[in-house]
Amino acid sequence: MNPQVAHLPCMRHFEITHGVLTLGGHPLTELADRAGGTPFYAYDPTALDARVGELRTALPPDLRLHYAVKANPMPEVVRHLARRVDGFDVASLGELQRVLECGGAAAETGFAGPGKRDPELAAALRAGAVIHLESPGEAERVRRLCAALDRTARVTLRINPDFALKGSGMRMGGGPQPFGVDAEQAPALLRQLADPAFDFLGFHIFAGSQNLQANALIAAHDRLFELAHHLAAGAPEPVRLLNIGGGFGIPYFPHDRPVDLAPVAENLAHWMERPGLVRDGARVVLELGRYLVGEAGIYVTSVIDRKASRGRTYLITDGGLHHHLAASGNLGQVIRKNYPVAVGNRMDEEAVETASVAGPLCTPLDLLADDIPLPRAEPGDLIVVFQSGAYGLTASPTGFLSHPPPPELWVGDPVMAYNRTDDTSA
Ligand SMILES: *Cc1c(COP(=O)(O)O)cnc(C)c1O
Repeated sequence: MNPQVAHLPCMRHFEITHGVLTLGGHPLTELADRAGGTPFYAYDPTALDARVGELRTALPPDLRLHYAVKANPMPEVVRHLARRVDGFDVASLGELQRVLECGGAAAETGFAGPGKRDPELAAALRAGAVIHLESPGEAERVRRLCAALDRTARVTLRINPDFALKGSGMRMGGGPQPFGVDAEQAPALLRQLADPAFDFLGFHIFAGSQNLQANALIAAHDRLFELAHHLAAGAPEPVRLLNIGGGFGIPYFPHDRPVDLAPVAENLAHWMERPGLVRDGARVVLELGRYLVGEAGIYVTSVIDRKASRGRTYLITDGGLHHHLAASGNLGQVIRKNYPVAVGNRMDEEAVETASVAGPLCTPLDLLADDIPLPRAEPGDLIVVFQSGAYGLTASPTGFLSHPPPPELWVGDPVMAYNRTDDTSA
């Protein structure tokens, strides 16, 4: 098998039947029929359940596991996880509505994001979700909405920490940030939160995304818990909730190794056993996006054309960056690197050539793989992009070049298709 994908943890859950990649007993060729052709995304519940299971086994039992919906808001994914995680993180009214439609509990849903609009805040208040306050201005708007709606707001204060998570693919804290309130500004704002409009629950502190290094995660958690202990002294009420964000990474590139969960979990257990905060009744929430769903998804596209240009072989596909911006290297990558890619109907064949996989868009950025070893692929063959369950379709510019959005398949029992073109509520 293609050595670029043979080592992927998700390959434990996928099978190969007569050379064809198979999810949940359904060969890709059959899934393509169900999708009405290519391109499409497919998500495998077995891989999702395995991931939840690994986390539950490793993490301290009283650590609450939430799902950050922005990683993948496909309804079946959210519905499936609603029965398996302890709550959700949302970043828009649309995501909150998705969680509520899919069986999630508003009380266990946190609403984060630097630019929440009044109607969104009002809906969160009415539903009883937790609002993560991100600025003094937002706190004041929530206070006024509480008066207008005769409600109390269940809130945390989101802190922009005075440290960053080393080795993160995307920084979410440290230095100047649009997210949260600088740790230095927090004491003053905490005094203002001693207002009957607010039911103050605690803190939200999130330092960075896509981190594979256990040491860096441990160092960030250490500083995060220290900061929370320090800020708790100035809080208007005893801290009942500490949200430590997400950020566990998954391997995409050849030298990436999966997160070593055991030491990270051990360190969290150690903090949760310390006097203060957790021992005094604060719940700790870990809200993971990518780590939960990233490995459970693939993107599948067909070869439309095969051509040579000055010594380079191009496989031109019907899918591209308009569906999968991250795989093209244009979502947060500094140096373009290839996602793991294979020819999904030739999984048994050896690589015999070096080819580049280019999408149909009229831009040189539309490259799904650059100079990778592949078996010889012909028009009609299926190119699979692995590690595509998180920040895939909904993190892509689907309007660019006016191709239709691809369906998303939930490869459960039964297989279900979700088509965003039918989603009139969006
Ligand atoms: C995006 C986000 C997450 C999830 O991040 P991952 O890196 O996917 O785990 C969690 N919390 C908040 C507030 C976020 O914005």
